Amino acid sequence: MLFELTEEEILIRDTARAMAAEIAAPLAPVLDRGEGRDLFLKNLKTFAEAGFMAVNVREDFGGTAAGTVAFALAIEELGYACAATGVTASVTNMVAEVIQAVGNEAQKRAYIPRIVDGTYPAGAFCLTEAGAGSDPAGMVTRARRDGDGFVLDGEKIYITSADYAGIFVVWAVSNPDAPKGKGISCFLVEAGTPGLVIGKAERKMGQHGSATSTVHFEQCRVPATALMGRLDDGFRIAVGELAGGRIGIAALSLGIARAAMDAAKAYVKERRQFGQAIADFQGIQWMVADRETELEAARLLILQAAAKKDRGEPFGREASMAKLFASEAAGRATDTALQLHGGAGYCADYPVERHMRDARITRIYEGTSEVQRLIIARDAFRQ
Ligand SMILES: Cc1cc2nc3c(=O)[nH]c(=O)nc-3n(C[C@H](O)[C@H](O)[C@H](O)COP(=O)(O)OP(=O)(O)OC[C@H]3O[C@@H](n4cnc5c(N)ncnc54)[C@H](O)[C@@H]3O)c2cc1C
Repeated sequence: MLFELTEEEILIRDTARAMAAEIAAPLAPVLDRGEGRDLFLKNLKTFAEAGFMAVNVREDFGGTAAGTVAFALAIEELGYACAATGVTASVTNMVAEVIQAVGNEAQKRAYIPRIVDGTYPAGAFCLTEAGAGSDPAGMVTRARRDGDGFVLDGEKIYITSADYAGIFVVWAVSNPDAPKGKGISCFLVEAGTPGLVIGKAERKMGQHGSATSTVHFEQCRVPATALMGRLDDGFRIAVGELAGGRIGIAALSLGIARAAMDAAKAYVKERRQFGQAIADFQGIQWMVADRETELEAARLLILQAAAKKDRGEPFGREASMAKLFASEAAGRATDTALQLHGGAGYCADYPVERHMRDARITRIYEGTSEVQRLIIARDAFRQ
């Protein structure tokens, strides 16, 4: 089995690393304090223009066409520098990919180039509702036929980037009489459409730079051309696209965890107690060794899921394994990194308390760890 990256994948990873170190990393603590939105949006445009918002999108739509492995490597590097930037890029790539996968030619030509050139600062993926989180098929947002279009009514919660997204992929019930999960359709709604109202951003534990908001649909009229894919067939689209998104969140988790462990390794080499660097204590070395091993295992799971997707093979089980393992390993790694800093780790002068807060949500969004286990178990029993 070959574990080598292609020259293009290495180039994309290294470019992402260098750009993120230069423009995203210095902004991360600023965003964490709730400041720096303008610079964040400027950075998103710069990353879009460099190809990082459509890494796995075809070149004829302006995408980078570099594949899922390259996407995962890029998100890991962005997440290493700044978790808010990493999650925004991950979700925006997912939006570009869903349009590419199920949009018609006109939708692809209209919307993907605006993601690629940064006209849209971000894309938003509107699935979750107050009564439909782990069980999104329980959604109640309605799409009613109205002349030659549809009217959307309802509320989506916790929507990443809603505050500044230019395009929203929205799921709504188009046939309430259909069996659960069967009568749902998928729509493309541009920011500024009358009736699309963005609520106040949530106050969160971490990833402060990434705005998370409720999106209200109040008699929001969209033309028939807003329907993406077939009528009543939207839930299948959501399930398929979430699997790809999970590779992104797994990579983001790995990036945050690596940042925390790199900070911790530097700290324990400097910090002296009992007359020696604390890195020289075997107890400290074992903590580092365990976390490094877990992060390497996470990387292999991520690359395996990404490579399968690139080969056109089923990858849902692998994506869930990668997301489950990487996000939980990131929880352990950021906790260990904080512990290795002692009291300093708990204080905001060091980045590890931010990394720990930033990592926590990766076990929840795009399917909780429990939901990933359900998917993996279902597949394991099916085989
Ligand atoms: C910062 C942030 C950003 C987000 N971004 C987006 C976004 O851009 N778009 C979007 O659509 N959504 C987004 N979400 C929503 C996110 O995907 C959901 O919060 C998540 O899927 C969990 O749903 P829930 O919060 O309703 O929890 P619930 O579904 O109520 O779950 C509560 C607990 O019960 C467990 N549980 C539920 N069902 C089972 C079961 N069958 N077996 C075992 N345990 C179970 C869960 O694992 C969890 O531990 C975001 C959320 C946050 C906080």
